[in-house]
Amino acid sequence: MTTILALFILGIGVVYVAVLSWFIRQDSNRFRQENNRIAAHESGHAIAAWSCTIVSDIHHITIEKSNGGEVEYAFFILPKAPWCLLVIHLAGLTAEIAKYGKFRSGYCITDLYKSLQCAEEIVKNGIQCPWELPALSRSLPFHKMYVEDISLECQQVLLQAYNYCRSLLDTHRHQYKILLAQLKNKKTISSPQEIESVLGNRDLITGLRSVKIGFV
Ligand SMILES: [Zn+2]
Repeated sequence: MTTILALFILGIGVVYVAVLSWFIRQDSNRFRQENNRIAAHESGHAIAAWSCTIVSDIHHITIEKSNGGEVEYAFFILPKAPWCLLVIHLAGLTAEIAKYGKFRSGYCITDLYKSLQCAEEIVKNGIQCPWELPALSRSLPFHKMYVEDISLECQQVLLQAYNYCRSLLDTHRHQYKILLAQLKNKKTISSPQEIESVLGNRDLITGLRSVKIGFV
């Protein structure tokens, strides 16, 4: 009888340990997937900032913030800045769509809000786009942008910037992959020099002084 009881308790112990380790495994899988998604998102922002000539420096890229990740950069205040900032803001969710086919609306809410602000400024001041824009081939799910009324002009600007962003990520696919791997591994890239060693040198506007700091 005692042996049966001992075996029964042992059996329960084994099942308990198996269930517990299954939950721990699920949890660490979820954590890894979440980290990968944040790394993809922040790599998108960083590649757009790195490609933009008005950005003087990328100070750091991290996936270790309590609310996800962050790219801090400095940019020259120029008339075309709203277009560049719009592309940088859209690049995180663009990278998510490119990799996963969708973006997490909640996580991207600040990016969406700031993108819309840039688009409104562009429309209001009639700021010409500084680049040759690719043909519109992809659409954005505006119904997921948490804003009820986006004017048609703003929608057009957002779409153009989104398509430009996709083409940027395509063009710099190689650097994007390197950066993504580094971020997954190191979690934080903490200086302009380190970022340059990962992404390479870039063309910069020189001789300008007024610089502002941006976060995405
Ligand atoms: Zn973002």
